[in-house]
Amino acid sequence: MANKTGITEQKTQAFVDCQNHRMLIGGQWVDALNNKRIEVINPANETVIGNIPCAQPEDVNKAVSFAKDALEQDAWGRMRPSARQNLLLKLADLIERDARIIAELEAVDNGKSADIALAVDVGLGLEFFRYMAGWATKIEGSTLDVSVPMAPPEADFFAYTRREPVGVVAAIIPWNFPFLMACWKIAPALAAGCTVILKPAEQTSLSALYLGQLIEEVGFPAGVVNIITGDGQTTGSALTKHPGINKISFTGSTQVGQMIGRAAMDNMARVTLELGGKSPMIVLKDCDPEKAAQGAAQAIFFNHGQVCSAGSRLYVHRSIFDTVVSRLVELAEAIPMGPGLDSSAQMGPLVSQVQLDRVCQYIESGRKEGARLVTGGERVDRKGYYVKPTIFTSEDDSLVIAREEIFGPVLVVIPFDDVDEAVRRANDSPYGLAASIWSNDLSLVQRLIPKLKAGTVWVNGHNMLDAGVPFGGYKLSGVGRDMGKQSLDSYLETKSVFMAL
Ligand code: NAP
Ligand code: MG
Repeated sequence: MANKTGITEQKTQAFVDCQNHRMLIGGQWVDALNNKRIEVINPANETVIGNIPCAQPEDVNKAVSFAKDALEQDAWGRMRPSARQNLLLKLADLIERDARIIAELEAVDNGKSADIALAVDVGLGLEFFRYMAGWATKIEGSTLDVSVPMAPPEADFFAYTRREPVGVVAAIIPWNFPFLMACWKIAPALAAGCTVILKPAEQTSLSALYLGQLIEEVGFPAGVVNIITGDGQTTGSALTKHPGINKISFTGSTQVGQMIGRAAMDNMARVTLELGGKSPMIVLKDCDPEKAAQGAAQAIFFNHGQVCSAGSRLYVHRSIFDTVVSRLVELAEAIPMGPGLDSSAQMGPLVSQVQLDRVCQYIESGRKEGARLVTGGERVDRKGYYVKPTIFTSEDDSLVIAREEIFGPVLVVIPFDDVDEAVRRANDSPYGLAASIWSNDLSLVQRLIPKLKAGTVWVNGHNMLDAGVPFGGYKLSGVGRDMGKQSLDSYLETKSVFMAL
């Protein structure tokens, strides 16, 4: 039965009511040593619903030291792969059991729809734990037939490689998919046998703290997963600069990613960066305009545009441009908006006042630069950080709104006449996270795919994800890949062993 806040699960309400949340360090739920705290705000009504610790450098030191100890102790360090696999599978089962609770936490903390979070954030997250659990028992090196030119002819050798966990992992994640990003980082790290310190975004830490409770319930040895809350400047920065960190896995803005990459090199920490994007969609002239409009609306308005791979630049062949734009406007105007706990709402508020201001400034810049606003363009007249789905059209894609990552429900639609021109313009971006092509001319599509400078190319779809398919960027969109076997590999070192027989 829903109560007045819309929360249906008693355990969600109990978790929210706890108010003064604690973080998980070395198997203990603790406050920051100096008791500093950050407010938790519900973006749907701008009210403070609790607070979380702001971990200080001393707290970070403590977490790193527990993570290092856990790595060296037999309980984790010598745990059999099948036992690691079983713990990960058990964790996935608990996530499945509590899926609705986690989805509701995302709704009150991030603003997204609980129903969508249930299917997407939690659904993909638990699927990913199961996928990575399988890899724990399939980590392998190779035997090598060596020649060793300087050795005498009678000498014999045996050489092989073994894969070993990279060590203590610092995982820093953003606020757009709080729970899913936590899963993307923790699952491969644990499958590989690493220990982890996770820092969720200060705006959205609740679901990560709840995941900490599940990790405790599963029975991972203390210190294997530590979840520390706090802001980027204090907590995140202390974590990334700590010499005890062996790998940093970061998802967030390109600007912070660049700083983290530099800090990582000082300690030679391995680094994976999944950063910003300005992903183009190219709609060829043979494409059904209805299908293109439906696809583009999904690609930009899903998660309120707060998606690193959002289809935020839409290139449409001029012959179907007007039809696609007018249908897109209808679709945008029909999206029901409301709090994430209202099951009739598809689009909720943006995550924070800061993000609302950022998005509104971009909309203003689009207007000033002369793009044509065809729908939206303002915040919704109600409490909460709501922005209407917004669509601009423009011949000119050198505008700020067509080049910079907005991270909100703002689309720029641009006509093109010739396919090569569309590909050139799509590639003319500092980013290269993803792109999509919409057409049934498969031989043409196959010729375009190698030309697109993007880590993922979707055809007749956008934002399709699977646990087994690597995801990450070209150019300023990042380094390395999340998901798939490539993600597992990035949490492993290769040790070469060479024996004279
Ligand atoms: P952000 O600053 O890059 O934050 C991502 C994570 O990094 C958060 O946990 C953040 O902590 C932490 N962080 C910030 N500064 C840090 C530092 N100096 N050292 C270590 N960690 C640090 O992103 P944002 O401010 O949330 O969003 C800004 C813009 O980034 C968005 O508008 C969007 O364009 C882009 N973005 C991209 C993605 C993506 O998936 N590619 C995701 C989110 C945002 P705190 O937030 O707690 O301070
Ligand atoms: Mg919040």
